[in-house]
Amino acid sequence: MTAAPPVPAMTPLAGKIARLIETAGPISVADYFSMCLADPEYGYYLTREPFGVDGDFITAPEVTQLFGEIVGIFLVHAWQAQGRPEAARLVELGPGRGTLMADVLRTLRQLAPSLFETAEVHLVETSPRLAERQRRTLSGTGARCHWHAEFTEVPDGYTLLVANELFDALPIRQFVKTDGVFRERVVGLDGFGRLAFGLGPAALEPAHLPDGGGEDGSVFEFSPVREGVMRKIAERLVRCGGAALLIDYGHVVSGFGDTLQALRRQNFDGVLEHPGEADLTSHVDFAALVQAVHEVGGHIAGLAPQGDFLVGLGLLERAGRLGADKSVLEQTAIRAAVERIAGAGAGRMGELFKVLAVTGDGAPLAPFSQPAGRP
Ligand code: SAH
Repeated sequence: MTAAPPVPAMTPLAGKIARLIETAGPISVADYFSMCLADPEYGYYLTREPFGVDGDFITAPEVTQLFGEIVGIFLVHAWQAQGRPEAARLVELGPGRGTLMADVLRTLRQLAPSLFETAEVHLVETSPRLAERQRRTLSGTGARCHWHAEFTEVPDGYTLLVANELFDALPIRQFVKTDGVFRERVVGLDGFGRLAFGLGPAALEPAHLPDGGGEDGSVFEFSPVREGVMRKIAERLVRCGGAALLIDYGHVVSGFGDTLQALRRQNFDGVLEHPGEADLTSHVDFAALVQAVHEVGGHIAGLAPQGDFLVGLGLLERAGRLGADKSVLEQTAIRAAVERIAGAGAGRMGELFKVLAVTGDGAPLAPFSQPAGRP
């Protein structure tokens, strides 16, 4: 007889998922992903404060104000290129602590007062706890802010939209090649009642797959939810005018590979280890987003590594100005922050993260179309 290995204490959400599987059978990776992040009782974003140096991960706007300022410069430039419409909807999806929007608003107020004064700010957030946090951050900005649980609730009108690290938090489906067929990966229970990966009956049509087919055991991921959000954004831009900036870590060509990962206290964790207590993400397939934009008649203004985008819009000059009257210690900190958000290599965001710019009208936009103009 083999003794059962010691069962690690299950998180409350793991218990809830195990009971669900006992009654209804294995669930897809997408459903597992959704429950981990968005379960109303135990979901990660509903119960935790994940951001910042003490959290599970740190995002670019939390590293330095320069990130939001450059995003602000891009939005002002798009607005100018598109005829300076009044009463813009300034939209952010998944605003976290509200830091990015606060930095964007400060930049708009300086560079384009008439945009700032006539714009309405719309924040789309599924977590009531984070929406409250955003309210606190943005209360002193002087902007008119509205909160929504879904993008489709944002009223029609000329739209300037930004989303940083939202798409990686939207659920993906995974398919594993087994005996020549891509079968859907599911989460079930092993013989000891613990969460375990398995394969479900659903198979993927070859039409969905990138070229090459992959070896047995290779994993293909796709995200109907992400592509659906992208289509809705692009449809809005085509119908009402505007531009969107979508920033995330991911790849520009679709391929094979298992990119699902869990992060807990800034360390990698097993995907099934601590549901509800670890952040769950996956790499964004930008080729799939580009295709979704084209399907609804939207235009790609550019797709570039984050470092190129930031430097192309004047990051280094702005960092120099920010550090001009500061102490040596503060200047060192600014330089380190610039390295972190725009540099290449491990632990830096400049290459791994990509910036996708979408418009409704095909207007050419810097830094993709022309040499960087000084703000
Ligand atoms: N943009 C922020 C936070 C990124 S974390 C930053 O850069 O710091 C992801 C954010 O998206 C969180 O605020 C989370 O609550 C929110 N979120 C997750 N799923 C969402 C959805 N379907 N719609 C809107 N917001 C969502």
